[in-house]
Amino acid sequence: MSTHSRWEAVIGLEIHAQLATKSKIFSGAATTFGAEPNAQACAVDLGLPGVLPVLNAEAVHMAALFGLAIDAEVALESTFDRKNYFYPDLPKGYQISQLAQPIVNGGQVVITLGEGEAAEQKTVRVTRAHLEEDAGKSLHEVFAGMTGIDLNRAGTPLIEIVSEPDMRSAVEAVAYARKVHAIVQYLGICDGNMQEGSFRVDANVSVRPKGQISLGTRTEVKNVNSFRFLERAILFEIERQIELIEDGGTVQQQTRLYDPDKDETRMMRTKEAADDYRYFPDPDLLPVVIEPATLAIWRDSLPELPDAKARRYQSEYGLTPYDAAVLTSSKETAAYFEQTLAALADRLPDQVADAKLCANWVTGAIAAQLNKTGLAIGDSPVTAPSLALLLVRIVDNTLSNKLAREVFEAMWAGEGEPDAIIDARGLKQITDSSAIEALVDAILAENPDKVAEYRSGKDKLFGFFVGQAMKAAGGKANPQQLNEILQARLGPPGEQA
Ligand code: ADP
Ligand code: MG
Repeated sequence: MSTHSRWEAVIGLEIHAQLATKSKIFSGAATTFGAEPNAQACAVDLGLPGVLPVLNAEAVHMAALFGLAIDAEVALESTFDRKNYFYPDLPKGYQISQLAQPIVNGGQVVITLGEGEAAEQKTVRVTRAHLEEDAGKSLHEVFAGMTGIDLNRAGTPLIEIVSEPDMRSAVEAVAYARKVHAIVQYLGICDGNMQEGSFRVDANVSVRPKGQISLGTRTEVKNVNSFRFLERAILFEIERQIELIEDGGTVQQQTRLYDPDKDETRMMRTKEAADDYRYFPDPDLLPVVIEPATLAIWRDSLPELPDAKARRYQSEYGLTPYDAAVLTSSKETAAYFEQTLAALADRLPDQVADAKLCANWVTGAIAAQLNKTGLAIGDSPVTAPSLALLLVRIVDNTLSNKLAREVFEAMWAGEGEPDAIIDARGLKQITDSSAIEALVDAILAENPDKVAEYRSGKDKLFGFFVGQAMKAAGGKANPQQLNEILQARLGPPGEQA
């Protein structure tokens, strides 16, 4: 948007998270992903006449946990409504949802923007989160020229998490979606698998001239099944709307689909208003009542969540707010960091220094490799206990940072544990000062002219001597010792020895 600085984007997200219950929200059918089509759809899910829904208590529990985690008001009484529409994957002709009295009201999610020292926090407000049932799926690619209907997904419990229009860029929207994703995974209420559709994000996007208070007309973009596509789809949509308005057009309220192959959004339908759905209270379901005592027990059962964990990393280990945010950004990353620290605990004395070193490696070398290979940290070929072994060899001075990086690359490539690699490749750092002195003396003896130049003031030559001595040492001399010995042998530049 840099070329359109007159404009400001406004984004609000609607996130559908499938709740990780064993059975469906209103029936006993299983919810496992990937079963034979229609093998997990019972009479209730098929919408056969005469059946009645029975609410799954675990779905209520999970939705309430989400509300507690984002500091929302969890309603002690909430109700179900019918949202009526026709679609082949919705045999009842209505979706059971919550409109008038949702289970979760308000709440907020804190996101971290920017990097390192420049990192800042921003609070995004959540409007509400309600319980509802998922629809089935239309399969267009299985039978030539025909569409198949798979109702396995019908009746899978969802929470729809609706944000306020608080985000101002694609980056902010992605940070918010990632944070919600982290929270549901920390809580264990959703597996978070975006490819399988367990966590789906719809982006509402509008633009307005900077300084204008009222909101512009929005479009809702669907079909984004990764965080990268979410960012691309929003960027495209912002540009499209700005260009449209600047060319004299107006934005229509529409639902649009993101096409990842073409990297564009396309009109799917004009937006329906709530009236079109003819919502009314579901007469088959009683209000959901949660006892205050039950809610208190649930509150006490909450696990340590990302923000609390990040605060603990800062106070216990002296990590920066940014590093703490990165390390807690997913449950797996935090687990990896903590497993590495646990493996170091009985080997190294200084917990704070070790945690900082460990944080640097997890947010640095490990993150870079994961990024490059697209692997999740849980699938890292360098496991937490192996990383700990490497860090031990840095702290005990066997390895310089440079050698450690070489050992790390070899570990990543599957060459084994650090000690075996150090032996096999002869990578042990030279820390014997007499050996380094001998190397330095030989270099100085070979280069009398350069020594003289250095001593007459050309102090840039110091780097030359370091380079030559390091080369003679096969890159293995302890850099700090090498520097000190060279300093001592050469004397300060510009002075005669
Ligand atoms: P609906 O239920 O019809 O989809 P809502 O008013 O509940 O509409 O809003 C849905 C989402 O759209 C919310 O996340 C909200 O923050 C966002 N939103 C509403 N108006 C705008 C706007 N003008 N620009 C961007 N996002 C918006
Ligand atoms: Mg909507």
